[in-house]
Amino acid sequence: MRTPHGQVETPTFMPVGTRGTVKGLTPRDLRETGAGLVLGNTYHLYLRPGVDVIRGAGGLHAFTGWNGPMLTDSGGYQVFSLSKIRKLSEEGVEFASVYDGSSHFFTPELTTRAQEDLGADIAMVLDECPPADASREYHAESLRRTARWARRCKEAHTRQDQALFGIVQGGLFGDLRSESLERTLEIGFSGYAVGGLSVGEPGEKMLDVLSKVSPELPSEKPRYFMGIGDPVGILEVISLGVDMFDCVLPTRLARHGSALTAEGRINLKNARYRTDFGPLDPECSCEACAGYSRAYLSHLCRENELLGHRLITLHNVTFVSELCRMARENIKAGSYEKWVRAWIGRYEGRIASGTE
Ligand SMILES: [Zn+2]
Repeated sequence: MRTPHGQVETPTFMPVGTRGTVKGLTPRDLRETGAGLVLGNTYHLYLRPGVDVIRGAGGLHAFTGWNGPMLTDSGGYQVFSLSKIRKLSEEGVEFASVYDGSSHFFTPELTTRAQEDLGADIAMVLDECPPADASREYHAESLRRTARWARRCKEAHTRQDQALFGIVQGGLFGDLRSESLERTLEIGFSGYAVGGLSVGEPGEKMLDVLSKVSPELPSEKPRYFMGIGDPVGILEVISLGVDMFDCVLPTRLARHGSALTAEGRINLKNARYRTDFGPLDPECSCEACAGYSRAYLSHLCRENELLGHRLITLHNVTFVSELCRMARENIKAGSYEKWVRAWIGRYEGRIASGTE
């Protein structure tokens, strides 16, 4: 995938820089993790520091110091998941800020303009992501409004150096997914996201819906699965043709002392790591694994030291980026499915033995 800020090899994981920073990591750290794209949240950046500040700095790249490829979401997901008070209409959605309760009104035109001002390489349409348990009628009405909003976003979008992606919704209803897909393809976008999955539904349901939607998306355009970051889930959605995905999981886990390793997820706060002087993950070459022991990282996590958060975040993002690199190699070699089975077997074997 080519962007104005560089080429990205897919499949690729996007670490989430919610407030203009992947918590604890500098842009140089991010480069070292091998991450291809970084995601910024329009909802948070719009509220704080405000789009005018970032535009004044020359855009999100200049403001944050990250000069690689970047994607911003539209803020829709946060409006519907964070703001308890909101009022939805055809025009847009009114909501109370999660920071101070102040009232704001997002329209497709406003979030498109805000994302143009932020200036990421890829912008997203404003969509509604209904709760997993919403009724069929609700999903049907919602996906039609999302399609109308998507058209307004495309009409409002003017930057030639920024791609705009559409989003397929429809919950777990096969026919509604097909309808959303058809409506979104009809408008036409530079790439397509599948939203509203990985929001608490059983894993088989998620894969079942994705397996029907993904083959219908144009193969020459990027396919973005919104919100998956656990290693097994990542490998499963790659199997179904997904090119890019984002999730706060690897960075959030790190702040709780959990590290991803080839033999499963480990919690460094567990007693056994207090005197484990081996490396965090012997197969990883990141700064955390090359320079420190599990015992030291365990100590830092127990004491809530900033360095512990930073080093484990660095490791977890490196781990997922490296997983994507291995996936790309195995796809090229035609050995993906075989490699995935072996990889997952090893990863889950450790979980089953009670390391968690
Ligand atoms: Zn590492």
